[in-house]
This record gives sequence, C-alpha cells and structure tokens, in this order.
Amino acid sequence: MKQKKGRRRRILLYSILSLFICVIIYSSLNFYYFTSPLVIDENKSIWANHIIPPNNPLENDIEVDIAVIGGGYTGLSAAWHLAQQNPDKRIILLEAKTLGSGASGRHGGMVLPILMPHIPIDTSEIADLKLLYDTSVKNIEKISYIEKHSGINCDLVTNGFLFPVFKKSDIEPMKEFVRIFKGYGFPLEFLNQEQLKEKLGTKRYEAGIYVKDGGTVHAMKLVHALKVLNEEAAVEIYEQSPVTEIIEAEKIKLKVGEDAYTVQADHIVLATNAFASKLGYFKGCVMPLHIITAASEPLNDDQLSSIGWKSRLPFADSRIELYHLVLTPDNRIVIGGGYSNYFYNNDLNFKDDLNEAAEIAKKELFEIFPELDGIEFDYVWNGVIGVTADAEEIYGVTGKHKNILYALGYNGHGVNTSILCGELIAGLYAQKQTEYMRINDGTSGFLPPEPFRFIGVQSYLKYARWYDEQK
Ligand SMILES: Cc1cc2nc3c(=O)[nH]c(=O)nc-3n(C[C@H](O)[C@H](O)[C@H](O)COP(=O)(O)OP(=O)(O)OC[C@H]3O[C@@H](n4cnc5c(N)ncnc54)[C@H](O)[C@@H]3O)c2cc1C
Repeated sequence: MKQKKGRRRRILLYSILSLFICVIIYSSLNFYYFTSPLVIDENKSIWANHIIPPNNPLENDIEVDIAVIGGGYTGLSAAWHLAQQNPDKRIILLEAKTLGSGASGRHGGMVLPILMPHIPIDTSEIADLKLLYDTSVKNIEKISYIEKHSGINCDLVTNGFLFPVFKKSDIEPMKEFVRIFKGYGFPLEFLNQEQLKEKLGTKRYEAGIYVKDGGTVHAMKLVHALKVLNEEAAVEIYEQSPVTEIIEAEKIKLKVGEDAYTVQADHIVLATNAFASKLGYFKGCVMPLHIITAASEPLNDDQLSSIGWKSRLPFADSRIELYHLVLTPDNRIVIGGGYSNYFYNNDLNFKDDLNEAAEIAKKELFEIFPELDGIEFDYVWNGVIGVTADAEEIYGVTGKHKNILYALGYNGHGVNTSILCGELIAGLYAQKQTEYMRINDGTSGFLPPEPFRFIGVQSYLKYARWYDEQK
C-alpha cells in the first residue's frame, strides 16, 4: 500500500515537472517564432506640437541601392551620412508612421556625451573612455551643424549638464571618479551640496558633478532638421510605410504597407530600435522598456525665481530609475523617470495608466522643488527604449548575405549616440574601421527568452525601486 502511494506521488511529481518543462519550452519557442504585432501609438509629447510637413507613403514597387527602415534619429542620420558619402546611390527611408513617431520624437530633451560614471578596475581603460567621450562631444558639434545648415532652430543649448548624487554613500566614490577622470582631461567638476544648490536650487541631492559638455534640444525640431538635410541630399522619404517583412537575399526584398509593395535593395539599414523584434531581429539582445515623461505648465516669474534653478542646466541623477529634468525655453519643466515597465513577450502596447505613472514623477518633482507643490502637468507621454544586457548599444552588419546594417539599443541615452551611430553605419557600409569601433565592438550579452525575461525584468525593477529608495 505504502509502495503504491509512493509510486503515485512520484508519477504526480514527474507529471507536474514535465508539464512545467513543456510550458517553458513552449513559451521560449513561442517567443522566438511568434511575434506580437508592431504597435506605434500616438506621440502625445510636448514636442509633437511642432508639425513637420508630411511625406507620401510608398505606392509602387521599386528597386534601390539602400533602404533605411525607421525614421528616428538613427535612420535619418544613417540615410543622410550614406547619401553624402555615396551621391550616386539611390537611397530611400521607410517610416511606419510619421518621422519621429518613436523615441526620437518623444524623449526627455537631454543631449548627453558618453560618460560612464564609474571607476574602471583597469585605469588604462580610461584613455579609451576618453576617446568615446571626445567622439560623442564631436557629435554634439555635428548636431549644432545640423541645426545651422538645415535652417531649423532646434532650441539646442550646449553649456553642459549636471549629474546630482542621490545617496550619501556615493559621495566619496564620485569625488574619486572626478579626481581620476579629470587627470585624463575629462571636463568635470565635483560640487558639494551647497555648490550644487547654487546651480539647481534644490537640496534633494547630496552632491553633484558638473559636466561641461551636453545640453538640451527640442526632439521634433531636430527630427525636422534631419529631414531637411536628407531631402537636400536626395534621400527619398516615405511615411505611413511600415515594412512588414524582410526577405533576405543578395538583393534583399522588403514588403511594405497593406498593399505589400516590394522594395528590392542591395543593402538595408535596420534603424527600428525598440521595435526591431517585430521584424524578427535582435529578439535575443534588445528588448523594449516602456518609460514615461511629462511637461509641466509654464512656470511664472515668481515660481521660477522661488525654485532658484539659476543655471538652467539640465540634470539626470544617480538613481537606477533615474530622474531627468530639463527647463524649456518657455519655462516648463520636462521630467522623466521613476517609472519603467516591461510587458510580456516584448509587447509594445502600453498597458498601465499613464496619469498614475506620471504621479510618481510629480511626487518626485515636489521633493526636488517643494515650492512647486500644486503645479500641474500639461503633457504626459509614454515611449519605448531599446535595452541591452550590458546597457551599451549594438551595431554592425548581419544577414545571410551580410547586407543588413544596424544600430540600436541605446538604453535611454540615445539622442546623441543614435546620430553618432548613423555615421557609424555609413562607415560600416564603406567597410571603414574607426577607433570607436575598436573600443566599443557593438556587441552585447544575451537576454533570456520568455518566461525568464519577464520574471527577470520584473524582479530587477522591484530591486531597483527598493535600492533607489535607500538614501
Ligand atoms: C520617453 C523617453 C525619454 C527619453 N529621454 C532621453 C533623453 O533625455 N536623452 C537621451 O539621450 N535619450 C533619451 N531617450 C532615448 C532616445 O530618445 C532614443 O535612444 C533615440 O531617440 C533612438 O532613436 P532611434 O532612431 O534609434 O529609434 P526611434 O526614434 O524609436 O525610431 C525608430 C523608428 O522606426 C520606426 N519603425 C519601427 N518599425 C518599423 C517598421 N517595421 N517599418 C518602418 N518603420 C518602423 C518607428 O516608427 C520609429 O519612428 C528617451 C526615450 C524615451 C522613449
């Protein structure tokens, strides 16, 4: 009797285990072979008030040299650089909705140089980090060039940014970071709490770092400026033209829109960032993370002087789910951070309540500037960023025929880097190696399939929130 009971228990246990393994295998296969649909929701950001004249969709089959997929900064920069360097090539850009519908048209307004505030174990790494920093600063000069030569005023301000330190325990490591990096020529200044308050007006932070480079830009005006330069360089831009299928071959075929027009191209550029998995690419290394940003009503003169944000410098703090704040030319505060979410199977539908999510940012805004208690948000918007395992972008050449160029996964720091990566893509097309490529090889670690991805991200987000609450 006892033996029978034991056997029954073992069978039950094995059955449950087998069922569990089947569910895991099914979920993982499902993740790789079935894709939830491409969703690009309406851009409700403050920047979307700037209207860019629309372009027509693709309405016939065509053959081109290069087809760029995605009308954000990566795609626009890649197309422009490719056109400048290859004036004899026919280059088109296909955008699923309108230019700037993705992160490029709805970001937080900060243009940052590449700076990783940590002390590397191997100090020889710092010289390489300096090269990345300098390359990214040169790229900010390029954004200035784009503004000037397009004739579109992008509200670009580049007198630096602040990195406030949230935790007391981070003060000494950050002081040491500044000391070491200054020795290598990084233009950094450590600020104690009083010095930081002098620039920002807030006592929310323990200390801060002033970085001489970087600044702010109007998201959509920069998209507009890039569009102007692309059209001057004879790039054909098609909007409302989603690519639905990529058929790899020597001459690659794209299916576009509901009428399935065919584009044949020698090369394509995948500039679809957080949306790339919907075309079947980079599921294993880039995932979409949903974040939100808000813009306050304009501050009046009294409110502005009461908070004491004298420097008007933008800032992004040292928390994991960091807060970033920008003061616009018309004295609104654009604030992002404190909320992020991942939805099962790389789902692009935003499933939370936007206003509830924005309340987190509002609460923090009042912590930073208690003088503003009661101020309302005029705009609240969501967006997706492409996240990689090691928080660095990926770029390179892929496909059976090595004719798919790509750059994506900027981890929420892509305003500057995506434009830089557009130039990198043109370099890859010309088979040019650069120092940037030597230091940052464009690869990233592996992100597990479902259900592990969902469980892992949700656990990490819970940890991040707990960690960020500890002062
Ligand atoms: C809310 C928010 C705040 C942010 N704040 C900052 C910040 O302050 N500073 C900073 O440096 N970075 C910030 N970022 C990140 C930065 O905006 C992005 O890294 C950068 O804009 C990425 O540009 P991209 O061109 O690669 O991608 P995107 O701008 O997302 O462009 C991808 C484009 O591809 C199109 N597309 C997708 N699939 C297809 C298809 N099948 N066919 C055709 N077209 C397709 C999309 O419609 C989209 O226009 C923020 C991002 C978000 C979402």
